[in-house]
Amino acid sequence: MSYYDNLVMQAQMKYSLYYDTYASGGTPYRLSTRPPQPYTEQIQRLVEEIATADFVLVGGASGLSAAGGGDFYYEDNASFRKYFRKYARKYHFQGAFAGMMHRWETREEFWGYLATFLHTTQTAPIRRPYLDLDTLLKGKDFFVLTTNQDTQFVKLYPEAKVAEIQGDHRFFQCAACCTDDTWDAVEPVRAMIEAMGEGTAVPRDMVPRCPHCGGEAFPWVRGYGNFLQGKKYEEQYEKVSRSILAHKGERILFLELGVGRLTPMFIQEPFWNLTLAFPQTRYIAVNDRYSYLPAQIEDRGMVIKADIATVLRDAVAVKQKEEMA
Ligand SMILES: [Zn+2]
Repeated sequence: MSYYDNLVMQAQMKYSLYYDTYASGGTPYRLSTRPPQPYTEQIQRLVEEIATADFVLVGGASGLSAAGGGDFYYEDNASFRKYFRKYARKYHFQGAFAGMMHRWETREEFWGYLATFLHTTQTAPIRRPYLDLDTLLKGKDFFVLTTNQDTQFVKLYPEAKVAEIQGDHRFFQCAACCTDDTWDAVEPVRAMIEAMGEGTAVPRDMVPRCPHCGGEAFPWVRGYGNFLQGKKYEEQYEKVSRSILAHKGERILFLELGVGRLTPMFIQEPFWNLTLAFPQTRYIAVNDRYSYLPAQIEDRGMVIKADIATVLRDAVAVKQKEEMA
């Protein structure tokens, strides 16, 4: 088991142990009670911590994509209507994930919906918060760990710099996990969208199939009970583990962006424990809803409770002003 995998496993055990606390939105960690610095000082400190870090480990979660307009997953809002128009009218789903849980009458209709979902993220431009983050990281040694499946980071960076531990919309796996192979989903999705036109179902012979068993394919993503945790998955954990161990002893900045309360075990708690374990490191989180900072790392940590898009934009402005001066 890889170094980071082990940290996630410990956090998962903690989650089971204190399930009721987590389920009610809480945390078993003792939190700092210090009042936060004023917002402008926090932005200044964010820019300074990035500048002085030897290495930045970015942990990008759902809030980061949501801040950039990728907010169609959990509610029926303007962006859901924009990308899922046909299905929003016909089925009145409360967001993209609700459609994934729907009991579809035919596989052709299900795949019409799934292709629409995948096509939306595969073809989305790089969103503004990601570009601002990239500006902040210019010239720094960094690595990205993400739970986002929407391929935003791999549009910006080479795969060697990104670990996608919950899958990636560009790949299919066997729905029954009969093989450890994953394969391209981009071209089949494009073809399904084209064949579907204004309809809501794909032609029967275009339902993607596993080349090994002939059963249906499925996107390579966690969340539906059949996530293929084979070679490709292990590679993601190995990448992030290597990057941390290579910089152990240096001034690492753990930069957590947009972690929700449902999955603290993948980024947040490993980052807390790494910060605690390595005294020369720093921890900064940006979150629009929660400001959870463990008391044990309050001297080396900060949470900016504000909209991520605004924080990153403001930090870029501060950085650029400093560079002009
Ligand atoms: Zn198969």
